[in-house]
Amino acid sequence: MKKETRKAVIAGNWKMNKTPAEATELITAILQANEGADNSGCTVVACVPYVDIDAAVKAAKGTFLKIGAENCHWEKSGAYTGEISADMLVACGVEYVIIGHSERRQYFGETDLTVNRRVKAALEAGLKVILCVGELLEQREQGITSEIISMQVKIDLAGVTAEQMENVIIAYEPVWAIGTGKNATADEADEVCGGIRATLAQLYGPALAEATTIQYGGSMNAKNCAELLGKVNVDGGLIGGAALKAPDFTTIISAAR
Ligand code: PEP
Repeated sequence: MKKETRKAVIAGNWKMNKTPAEATELITAILQANEGADNSGCTVVACVPYVDIDAAVKAAKGTFLKIGAENCHWEKSGAYTGEISADMLVACGVEYVIIGHSERRQYFGETDLTVNRRVKAALEAGLKVILCVGELLEQREQGITSEIISMQVKIDLAGVTAEQMENVIIAYEPVWAIGTGKNATADEADEVCGGIRATLAQLYGPALAEATTIQYGGSMNAKNCAELLGKVNVDGGLIGGAALKAPDFTTIISAAR
């Protein structure tokens, strides 16, 4: 399968930004900026804070824009104060969920084992998963990026079936590039995304590896998106800061189309 036949996915990660009223405003602006565009070549997702889901789902209803969440718990219900289950997200109209974002790993104690549990729970509930993997700056400097990424992919996807992989997108997000304004070069992004594809081929065979959407994320913006998205192994982007500005997010969507 060639890059052209894989569906490009551009997803915004709003992080801890926007009230429900502001979410409605931003989604309205994104929809207006994309009016009349042909979206057949690109899936567009806005992953929003839990409290914005209702407003976001309403604002995006009947449009090309899909709504995602930024995390979910692995249990269906129970004594997990502050957590949200995958079934709850589905009940609210959410279609996508980010799992294993580096900020969750860095600040909230997420490990590959908990990421794996969350991935499986989200898939079982019928959500599409954007699974984030990425190396720390020290790991890149030590020359162990490919080993780290391959290990993350293997642990995070343990027990995920080939059939379930149809609903998995992998986002390569070098931790040193997130929110820093320092993006990986297009060649660096392509090399690691190609390595992820090779790991998927080991786990699931070459056909599935070729069919899987692999995004790059880390300071992607309106200026660098065309070069990054032009690479053969980069099928889309997970975008933080630039997803909060309708014109910049629209430029990135247009580059992916
Ligand atoms: C992210 O939050 O996943 C991200 C890539 O952020 P930024 O684009 O701001 O680096």
